[in-house]
Amino acid sequence: MARTTRSLRDALLVRPGMRVHLSGVDPSATYGRERETAKAELADGLDRLTDLQDRIWAEGKRRILVVLQGIDAAGKDGTIRHVMGAFNPQGCPVTSFKVPTGQELAHDYLWRVHRSVPGNGEIGIFNRSQYEEVLVVRVHGLVPKALWSKRFDQINEFEQLLADEGTTIVKFFLYIDRDEQRERLQARVDDPTKNWKFRLGDLDERKLWDDYIAAYEDALSRCSTAAAPWYVIPSNRKWFRNLAVADILADTLDDLKPRYPKSAEDLTGVVVK
Ligand code: AMP
Ligand code: MG
Repeated sequence: MARTTRSLRDALLVRPGMRVHLSGVDPSATYGRERETAKAELADGLDRLTDLQDRIWAEGKRRILVVLQGIDAAGKDGTIRHVMGAFNPQGCPVTSFKVPTGQELAHDYLWRVHRSVPGNGEIGIFNRSQYEEVLVVRVHGLVPKALWSKRFDQINEFEQLLADEGTTIVKFFLYIDRDEQRERLQARVDDPTKNWKFRLGDLDERKLWDDYIAAYEDALSRCSTAAAPWYVIPSNRKWFRNLAVADILADTLDDLKPRYPKSAEDLTGVVVK
């Protein structure tokens, strides 16, 4: 297939107000990209990211928040390793949101999120995020519907606040299908180097697949905004997933046109002896 000219950013964006039906998304899609050339294309994307992050860090005035969501084994960790590996760890804090601690539960649900957002010059990565509050919390009925159903608007307002105050937000939903999840979970069982990623409870979560998909469809449909867009990344093929995330992220950062700051001092003629 010929390489499409349409950017992945344009193709994979959830347009604000659009209703997402994941049954209509092919998780194995590659948008004309080929596995053989993907390595070189990814390397290009990673080079762009390295350059852009260096500028953002040097400039020290913008904040970038990258949200990664996906069902178990969708590839959140792999994406961080392969794509965010382009960044200097100094200036790239990663926060993994787990089952809330007692102290976290003693506060409103955004408390732990807000204190983890990136500061000036930082590209913050959220491995899971505020969206767990309308995903696992909803699927397991951890709070009543009357509470979680308000959270879509609350999250939109929270993200708008971050954006208004200078944070660029980009959110990736890594989409795999049930067969792909089965294979990846089985690999976690069979491969001793992957056992640590597997809990028997993952099998119970897998039984709730349809509920998770419905919850994701609502989160994607209700919370993709101009200030904080969602992208649905077909993720059955890891090489395409990495390529797409790197590409969209680089395009997003490129738009910010980060520049190395000029020295505040006059350096003309300065010779270091
Ligand atoms: P992992 O990403 O495999 O380390 O697992 C983290 C676990 O924490 C997942 O099962 C999430 O669903 C769970 N988790 C994250 N945030 C929340 C939350 N707000 N409430 C309940 N469970 C959560
Ligand atoms: Mg897990």
